[in-house]
Amino acid sequence: MLKTICFFCKKKYTIDRSDTQYQRILKNPEASYVCKSCNQSMQKEAQTSTGLNPGDIDKYDKYLR
Ligand SMILES: [Zn+2]
Repeated sequence: MLKTICFFCKKKYTIDRSDTQYQRILKNPEASYVCKSCNQSMQKEAQTSTGLNPGDIDKYDKYLR
């Protein structure tokens, strides 16, 4: 278990091996952690700024198959 603070919302989190960022922070305690909710809002922002939304990606995916 590791105690860390989210880079964006500054909330304290305790993460374990099940967290995808655990190994990274274990190796480098200075690495910044991004919690799941901030991660999701970042992904939404990325979708907005690229003009893509999950529906479009889905259509594109079907087209490729
Ligand atoms: Zn956060």
